[in-house]
Amino acid sequence: MPQLLITGANRGIGLALTELYLAAGWDVVACCRDPAQADDLLYLISDNPGLEVYQLDVTDYDALSDLAHELSDRPIDLLINNAGYYGPNAVLLGDIPVDEWRKVMEINAIAPIKVTEAFLPNLRLAKGTVANISSKMGSIEDNQSGGGYLYRSSKAALNAASKSLALDLAADGIKAVVLHPGWVRTDMGGPHGLIDADTSAQGIKSLLEQLQPQDSGKFFDYQGKHLAW
Ligand code: NDP
Repeated sequence: MPQLLITGANRGIGLALTELYLAAGWDVVACCRDPAQADDLLYLISDNPGLEVYQLDVTDYDALSDLAHELSDRPIDLLINNAGYYGPNAVLLGDIPVDEWRKVMEINAIAPIKVTEAFLPNLRLAKGTVANISSKMGSIEDNQSGGGYLYRSSKAALNAASKSLALDLAADGIKAVVLHPGWVRTDMGGPHGLIDADTSAQGIKSLLEQLQPQDSGKFFDYQGKHLAW
């Protein structure tokens, strides 16, 4: 069975992707910060022998290294760096909270690359794909409204680093793409999002199924539309 490793699998888009790949017969290594509280994810275990749940805060690099060691012999066909954090909503120019900015950068930009590094041997075994869940808010070209300093800059940094991943890993046969999941009704997206998490997950899965080597290093939305940096 093909194998998916996904972060932030306990709720929102991560949970929807986990359910979808399990339903398609994949084995899923589902990582979340607090499995004891991850009721919706744990509920899936009884019907899905291919599901394994692991504790992982993506910014805990020692724990990340331990998990990578534990899973060292497993080929990973698809790594989805989904875990993300918006930070405080009401951030105004003139009062930008530096600690929160560092936290948003750490979770959204640094951790996905460290997770990818940790599981590179596994990705090499399968000539796998890295899908980094970014956001259109990380597109500098698309920014028409200003604001969003913390989140926008973190996703733009993720985009830049993901392009390097794609170039550096091409020789290993590993693809890396950056994906905008749509405006999704989750805790982060809020109740007015345009689509639900299942629709986003289905779009992401079908896009990834059609991915060609020449698509590596590109930025797509969940409908497969190519986005500007
Ligand atoms: P949610 O807020 O619903 O879920 C966020 C997930 O990330 C949770 O599982 C959360 O875990 C996890 N997470 C946060 N910090 C960490 C951490 N340090 N270590 C491990 N896991 C962590 O968000 P969505 O499902 O909406 O978002 C998923 C991805 O999609 C994110 O990268 C987001 O930026 C992106 N995105 C979402 C959009 C939307 O409209 N919803 C639009 C564009 C992009 P916990 O439950 O423990 O907090």
